[in-house]
Amino acid sequence: MILDPSRYVAPGVSGPQGFKPIRKNIYLPVPAQVREILEENALVRTFVLEFDDPLVNQEFTYEPGQFMMVSMPHCGEAPISFSSSPGRAGSFALTVRRAGRLTSAMHRLRPGDTIGVRGPYGRPFPMADLSGRSLLFVAGGIGLAPLRSVLEFCLDNRDDYGEITLLYGCRTPADICFADDLEQWRQQGVHCLCTVDEADDTWSGRVGLVTELLPEAGAEAASWRALVCGPGIMIHFVLSRLVEMGFPRDHLFTTLERHMKCGVGICGHCFFDEKLICREGPVFSMSELGDTRNL
Ligand SMILES: Cc1cc2nc3c(=O)[nH]c(=O)nc-3n(C[C@H](O)[C@H](O)[C@H](O)COP(=O)(O)OP(=O)(O)OC[C@H]3O[C@@H](n4cnc5c(N)ncnc54)[C@H](O)[C@@H]3O)c2cc1C
Repeated sequence: MILDPSRYVAPGVSGPQGFKPIRKNIYLPVPAQVREILEENALVRTFVLEFDDPLVNQEFTYEPGQFMMVSMPHCGEAPISFSSSPGRAGSFALTVRRAGRLTSAMHRLRPGDTIGVRGPYGRPFPMADLSGRSLLFVAGGIGLAPLRSVLEFCLDNRDDYGEITLLYGCRTPADICFADDLEQWRQQGVHCLCTVDEADDTWSGRVGLVTELLPEAGAEAASWRALVCGPGIMIHFVLSRLVEMGFPRDHLFTTLERHMKCGVGICGHCFFDEKLICREGPVFSMSELGDTRNL
């Protein structure tokens, strides 16, 4: 059955926030070839992908915060966020933590191999509303992946954004992702502060939770916007602390993860707090979320 994708655009969401499916049959994956694989750490790899079809490759667009449904034969399908900036046409990047069947199979991929993708799906970060603002990014572990898409988009459009600060926390130094990017972002003027929960011999930096870095961020509560991504408990404590610092709840944004099957608001698998995370999210402002303790 060919489904009309326009039926599945989230209510109240229009224009650039409505997803632009790359095929009429939304369940049909499109082949994409692995161009490059970057090892972020023992469990996390970034896959740079391009579509087999040059026309699709040329026309494909997405926005920071959106995700693709990724599949491999006999391994199932899972949502994975874009970790690249949409400004860099011709390819896109997905950063994947080895968790279960699909992601383990993805970690066995080599350049030149093919996977299936469908999307882009979900409500992105409100880049137009963030324009002209100074931005505070707070990430935990692989939660930096979707924020990397936003951050690189801001760097691609540097004049549209004010100061940029990134606070990044990981459990141990071995869990850090995008180490090369962090160095490059510092050189491009991003104020980056990193911390780990537990240090080892290789680490001479900060030790402690990422919330402890918030007072040093130099972010002004009234005018800055903050984007937060990481484990649920970390999101809760960071958002709560930012509210205590005076940030209005509608100036705080996060992206949520729930198990998904369809990715487009049909199956109801990702229903949480009266919302379909796949279609109404995964990006939400804090004012749209209820109790953040259960994130
Ligand atoms: C919007 C969104 C964006 C995401 N972006 C990324 C990303 O950028 N990078 C990334 O690495 N991951 C991302 N994820 C998470 C990723 O989709 C999951 O880790 C996915 O389950 C991996 O698939 P898998 O087949 O490898 O593992 P699975 O077989 O799904 O297993 C992974 C874990 O989930 C448990 N599990 C499986 N099914 C269920 C279920 N129905 N209910 C509860 N628990 C279950 C398993 O027991 C196991 O512990 C994202 C998720 C969402 C919703």
